Order: sequence, then C-alpha cells, then structure tokens
Amino acid sequence: ALANIGVVGLAVMGSNLARNLASREGNTVAVYNRSRSKTDELVAEHPEAGFIPAFSYEEFAASLSKPRTAIIMVKAGRPTDAVIDSLVEVFEPGDIIVDGGNAYFPDTIRREKAVRETGINFVGAGISGGEEGALTGPSIMPGGSDESWVTLGPILKSIAAVAEGEPCVTHVGHDGAGHFVKMVHNGIEYADMQLIAEAYDLIRRGTGKTPAEIADVFAEWNKGELESYLIEITAEVLRQVDAETGKPLVDVILDQAGAKGTGAWTVQTALALGVPVSGIAEATFARSLSSHPEQRAVAASLPGPDEEFRVDDVDGFIEDVRQALFASKIIAYSQGFDEIRAGAAEYNWTIDLGAVSKIWRAGCIIRAQFLNRIADAYAEQPDLPVLATAPYFAEALTRGQAAWRRVVVAATQAGIPSPAFSSSLAYYDGIRAERLPAALVQGQRDFFGAHTYKRIDKEGTFHTQWSGDRTEIEAEDTH
Ligand code: NDP
Repeated sequence: ALANIGVVGLAVMGSNLARNLASREGNTVAVYNRSRSKTDELVAEHPEAGFIPAFSYEEFAASLSKPRTAIIMVKAGRPTDAVIDSLVEVFEPGDIIVDGGNAYFPDTIRREKAVRETGINFVGAGISGGEEGALTGPSIMPGGSDESWVTLGPILKSIAAVAEGEPCVTHVGHDGAGHFVKMVHNGIEYADMQLIAEAYDLIRRGTGKTPAEIADVFAEWNKGELESYLIEITAEVLRQVDAETGKPLVDVILDQAGAKGTGAWTVQTALALGVPVSGIAEATFARSLSSHPEQRAVAASLPGPDEEFRVDDVDGFIEDVRQALFASKIIAYSQGFDEIRAGAAEYNWTIDLGAVSKIWRAGCIIRAQFLNRIADAYAEQPDLPVLATAPYFAEALTRGQAAWRRVVVAATQAGIPSPAFSSSLAYYDGIRAERLPAALVQGQRDFFGAHTYKRIDKEGTFHTQWSGDRTEIEAEDTH
C-alpha cells in the first residue's frame, strides 16, 4: 500500500508529527531522514504506527500516493532548502511540499515562488505547540495555494488540536501568510510572557509574598478573564522547589532570558510595515537587556529610589496588578493583530483575523479563552481598525485603566522595570489622544529638512521658509 502523507526529518518534531499523523484514521505515513539511524529507531519503536520507511528520496517519492504530500520538519534555513531541492527532483507537478519548520516568512515567499515554477505546490505551515503539540495536536497555520489546501486541509485537520469541537487549523492565506502569522503568534507570546513576569515581580517586591504564595495568586487569576496556558504554567513554575538547595526554583534560575529570534523577526517586520507593536518590542528588548551581565554589573552602581517599596493594601494592589495585566494584554494582542492586518495588506493576503484567533485557542502557547473574544470582535466587524476598541475590550480597558495607571506609577516610583506594562499604557494613551505632538515633529522636520506639512484647516502641502522671512508657501508633497 502507498502512503497518503510523508514526513522528512525525524528529529523530535518530525517523529512526533509522524506518530500523530499515523494515529489518525485513514492515514498511512511514509518517513525519511537524512541519517538512516533516526528512521530505523522510529520504525522499531513504533510498530503500531505502520510507518513506511524510505532510505532515499526516490524511495520516499515511490512510497507516496498522488498527489504526493510531504511535510518537512528539519532545521530551518539551509537544511530546509536542501530538502526542498531534493524533493523537487523526485516529485511531479501537482504534488505538495509542506515546510512545517520555523521558517522566516520572506524565505517561504521565495521558496513558494521557486517551487511553483516547477508545477509543484509549496506550502509554508507554521506549527505551534512544541514537541508535545506535535504529538497530541498542534495549532497549525498553513499558507500556500488553494489547490494544495484541498488535499492538505483534511490531513492537517485530522492532526490539529481541537478547541470547542473545531480543529485548530485554517488556510491562513497564500504563500508566506502561514509563517507570517506564526511569527506574530510568537511575538505575542513574548509580550504575554513579559507582562506576566512583570506582574510577578511587582507583586513579589511590593508585597513580599513568596513565589509559592504568588503561585496561588496566579492559580486564582486563571479562573477568571486571564485564564490561559501561560498563566497556568506560571503558577507551576513559581511553585517548583529546587531539589538541591530547597529554594524556590525561580530564585536559582539565572535571570538571563534566551530567544530563538522569532520575537526579533516580529519587531523587524513591524518596523518595516510601520506598525507600533511596542509591547512585543519591549518584551524582546527586555530579554536582550537581561542577557548582558557585563553591562548589568557596571550599571548596578546607578542609584534607584531612596524609599523601600511596600504596599499597604496588599489585596488591593494585587487586584490592580491583575487589571493592569489584562489591559496590557489586550493592547499586546491588539498590536499583534494590527501587524497581521498590515502584513496582509502589504503582501496581498486575504487573512480572516477571527479565524486566526480561533486556531490559537488550543495546541499553541498563547492558547486561552480570551481568543474567543477576539473572534467575536472580528465577527462583529471584520475590518475593525483597532482590536482594543471592540466593545468587550473597550469595556475592560475602561474598567481597568485607573488601576493600570496606579500600577505603572507605583512601578516607576519603586524603580521596578515594567517596560511592557508602561509601553502598553503609553500606546493606549497615544492611540486615543485627540491631538499628538506629532504636529511639532512635523514642524521640526520642515525646519531642518524642508519635509513639508499638511494643515488641519485646508487642503495642500506647505513649507515655512525658515531660513528666509518665515512666510508659508505651498509646496510639493515630499512627505
Ligand atoms: P532540528 O531543528 O534539531 O533539526 C534536526 C533535523 O534536521 C534532523 O532530522 C536532521 O537530520 C535534519 N537535517 C539537518 N540538516 C539537514 C540537511 N542538510 N539535509 C537534510 N536533513 C537535515 O529538529 P527539531 O525536530 O527540533 O525541529 C524541526 C523544525 O521544527 C525546525 O524548523 C524547528 O525550528 C521547528 N521547531 C518547532 C517547534 C515548535 O514548537 N513549533 C519546536 C521545535 C522545533 P539528521 O538526523 O540526518 O541530522
């Protein structure tokens, strides 16, 4: 018998995905890995899966029914290109090559274009949820052509996580749209994690509660509007005691946060698109700042506030932090969806933002009930310009903004860094401002560079002759 789906790359992610595929009714899975040992091992350890092993690309192609469909799960970058080239050699027009790795979306756009010229379909699919998700059900964000979705859709639906009866996969858009959306998912994840970390820091330093006590706070929060996987695991991490020292684990972990680069991609892309994803940017920078011990060592001599930070009303403060966290989270997601909207416009993708929020409800790291509210907002108004203004979110911001301000003031006075909380609040105040000092910036730009400006009271483009008699003239629009 032939396989209806194949997997190339049998490290952790690929082998788990292959097992997931094999466990679903109707799938027969062909497997191939560059070094034979991984293939032998997988097949030997999982006879129940009925894998069809292949030891060359020719054998792999021959073991697949048409249209041949293969998911690549190898190291991102050059290895992915090498595997694509090999598959193109043995596949035929109409076949489908899926890259399930963490590719940078411009690479996916490039690869899709090159592979399409051979008549073979190329699909970049963001797969979120790590090893566990790959095995039990990830959230999947495929791009690529409509034609490939016809074959691929049912296969991906069979292995995706399920949220309220719906599989967490949708055809996001053409070529690089899937990897773009996966990138923004990761950026939002950075912001969400940083906000939770800031909430923890403020509570700990403001109230003196122990990590285990703060774990209880997070567990309680997880029953309300903040309910999410990240809040849940935060409680677990805070409750963990180090076996060696008997201390809270969080106190023995080195405070330097790593990153694999998807946060930076999200921010770089947002800068190029002109989208202010300040929460994601601050979260990414906060990791960078933490990871420069040499700078932190010399800067440690700089002074902080004189008075010690202690809150009087502990319960009141914790509730303020909860509200600030929720408000900041709304802004982070609003900014992330703004980036997807802008990316779709730039790259001519038709992306259903509500559908994207729904496929994040399970299988991925930012999974949460909250995402249903985002889906509701886009169902109500698909072209909503600012997600945070949707009724449910606007109500939460209205309710929480006073607490949010108190928390940012307290953090500032206490000298506790809260870049994600405070930048989100600054965005909130900026986007809702009736008038911004951008008018002055335009005046400055016109002064030194004759960059011109528009007026609020008439059409046209103007320049003040700053170095002459300072009269205003109509000018060519030079931006
Ligand atoms: P790795 O990223 O560690 O890659 C190892 C695999 O790549 C092996 O199968 C290896 O084959 C293969 N490989 C490396 N170079 C080549 C090459 N030149 N030609 C052919 N094959 C090659 O594996 P992971 O399972 O950790 O991740 C796979 C993909 O999934 C990556 O793109 C990664 O970014 C992504 N990922 C996603 C996660 C998520 O949560 N979504 C989590 C982890 C990873 P060999 O055995 O012969 O060396």
